[in-house]
Amino acid sequence: AKSNGRGRAEIFDQALRTELEVRAKLEADIRAGLASDEFELHYQPVMSVADGNLRSYEALIRWRHPLRGMVPPNEFIPAAEESLLICEVGRWVLTHATRQLAEWTRMDPQGHGDVTVAVNISARHLASPSLVDEVRQALEESGLQPRRLVLEITETVLLDEPTADTHLRALRDLGVTVSLDDFGTGYTSIGQLQKLQVDTLKIDQSFLRSDDPATQSLVKLMITAAHAFNLDVVAEGVETQEQLDRLAAIGCELAQGYYLGRPKSAQETEIVV
Ligand code: C2E
Ligand code: CA
Ligand code: CA
Ligand code: CA
Repeated sequence: AKSNGRGRAEIFDQALRTELEVRAKLEADIRAGLASDEFELHYQPVMSVADGNLRSYEALIRWRHPLRGMVPPNEFIPAAEESLLICEVGRWVLTHATRQLAEWTRMDPQGHGDVTVAVNISARHLASPSLVDEVRQALEESGLQPRRLVLEITETVLLDEPTADTHLRALRDLGVTVSLDDFGTGYTSIGQLQKLQVDTLKIDQSFLRSDDPATQSLVKLMITAAHAFNLDVVAEGVETQEQLDRLAAIGCELAQGYYLGRPKSAQETEIVV
């Protein structure tokens, strides 16, 4: 029995070592990828429900890997979030997204003057003492007005990190907009919305998937509450005209989803512009 137990421990050790090795390799690959420009941002439009006008672009990262092809964020962002590497990724995203919108604005000041760009900020990056300076620097270097940058954060960030609140305050003092991503999937209650340092609520796409009347009422309730607290609302994951009609009927002003536009590379986005 003793040797048997030792055998299991060794198997466990080996599995753990392999997992750590895989993770270390992925981290090293991400770092190398940043250095050799393998990442790119794709842009997905956020539209006004009432008139179909473009309001914002959400910048979504992709990895053009030399061997693996186009790698979606779910396959490397979680690994980057295990360490401070996510702050380097986040800084890269901030720099490139602000630069891109500034460039589009120069190309087409009429069409783009009021459009914003939204970037996703991970919990660890929001907790980082240098984030506020990084945001300020990205704005300065690009020449983009602060109000045209939206930072998307998820609610877990706000609950887990005491410094997050302080940093959000400083960011909003800079004039950037803060959006609460994936709302409804975590623990924030509607009542807590009032206290949060956010300007916009993004209702998670899972709520749109459901035809259940109870879920529909819940979405309506979230929108009503958000408006009562002066928050804008974006419905995520709109895939059909029926969903869009339903959102219009319950007073949701902004929408994002494949039906309105898929994420596209900067070049493909320009062709539409
Ligand atoms: P998210 O922030 O909730 O982004 C929305 C995701 O939903 C995107 O997936 C988008 O392509 C997808 N989506 C949009 N409309 C529809 C639709 O109508 N139907 C369906 N089924 N999906 C839709 P993507 O680009 O694969 O990103 C996944 C997640 O990865 C993001 O979720 C975000 O959490 C994370 N992520 C993406 N880019 C970044 C980044 O630059 N930094 C960080 N920290 N996280 C990022
Ligand atoms: Ca997002
Ligand atoms: Ca989301
Ligand atoms: Ca998400």
